[in-house]
Amino acid sequence: SSWFSKVIEGPPIEVFALNKAYAEDTFPNKVSLGVGAYRTDEGKPWVLPVVRETEKILAENESLNKEYLPVLGLESFTKAATKMLLGEESPAIIEDRAFGVQSLSGTGALRVGSEFLAKVVGLKVFYYSKPTWENHRLIFLNAGFEEAREYRYWDPKNRNLDINGFLEDLRNAPENAVIILHPCAHNPTGCDPTPDQWKQIAEVIRERRLFPFFDSAYQGFASGDLVKDAWAVRYFVEQGFEIFCSQSFAKNFGLYNERAGNLTIVMNDVMEIPKVKSQITLVVRGMYSNPPNHGSSIVSYVLSNPKLFEQWQGHIRTMSSRIIEMRKQLRQHLEDIGTPGDWSHITSQIGMFSYTGLNECQSEHMIKQHHVYMLKSGRISMCGLTPSNVEYVAQAIKETVTN
Ligand code: PMP
Repeated sequence: SSWFSKVIEGPPIEVFALNKAYAEDTFPNKVSLGVGAYRTDEGKPWVLPVVRETEKILAENESLNKEYLPVLGLESFTKAATKMLLGEESPAIIEDRAFGVQSLSGTGALRVGSEFLAKVVGLKVFYYSKPTWENHRLIFLNAGFEEAREYRYWDPKNRNLDINGFLEDLRNAPENAVIILHPCAHNPTGCDPTPDQWKQIAEVIRERRLFPFFDSAYQGFASGDLVKDAWAVRYFVEQGFEIFCSQSFAKNFGLYNERAGNLTIVMNDVMEIPKVKSQITLVVRGMYSNPPNHGSSIVSYVLSNPKLFEQWQGHIRTMSSRIIEMRKQLRQHLEDIGTPGDWSHITSQIGMFSYTGLNECQSEHMIKQHHVYMLKSGRISMCGLTPSNVEYVAQAIKETVTN
């Protein structure tokens, strides 16, 4: 007998299982549209040149060492990340009401933030969009939240935002519920609220005394413009909200495995900041003690050096415009070959993912019949499309929807 004989097997994580099946597939024209990681036109991962350059500079700098970072992280990094999110002119920055906590990428920021809200502030209920990134639920429940609820988001019939359902669900939410919001490039639908819709959302959040927790995983990566992709967060801050916002540098810096992230916290009362910081210090201390240095020091270096910052902005434009171009090409091919249905959502959606509208059965058919690997929900990662496979994917979609 073993201590572990009572352990039952947990459910597989869909994207990772999909990757494995893709890797084992020997079909020469197989296509991977599962995992959300950038690929070049040649289908290869991309280490940003500015990251390579910065790594060399840091490696050569004899004055840097491997001492522990502070529990709340590298201050030059958290300051730069907070400024990148809120903008230099933000009232919260000018009034010194915002600060950052370095985290294990976006996931870690969500976890530290939600654990603080559950265990220290005592909040119990959280809401996520239906559908959302599949990890939100697990993170918040593991952090100590008691109840997970969904707000309506995607309208499958119109392949668009269900704003009325969204607002109604917020109106019916209990006071003190935390609302997880995607500021841009909603994962998995690629469909964002308009500025006017954000204003309506903010109004209900204020009226109902709900707490907005933004999850910013794609700033700059979505539109190529850091300011545009942060619009919703900045709007809430200008309107005087207290917010949490997790930030990931996985996509926009291509630092997936370095786990560079930040939790930006905006508060109303400066006097309360030291108390909050002391409690978050205890949350981090008991979880992983202090964060890693490599990724955060690269981000910090680039964000604080005007020349490298320019170069990096060029990289995010390269990545976002390649994705936008693949959207155009996919839609064009689908229409050129006369695929039944309306495919305009492919180009109106934004960011890494697209909800194709294919159902579970069709998505499975795409994998089995055509070796095009995508999620059951019909989500595809636009990054996996290249000029050499987009036509094949369009043909596969056509065959699948007419099948
Ligand atoms: N939130 C959303 C919506 C995401 O899509 C992702 C990346 N898949 C993350 C958070 C966090 O990713 P990471 O922990 O790698 O930064």
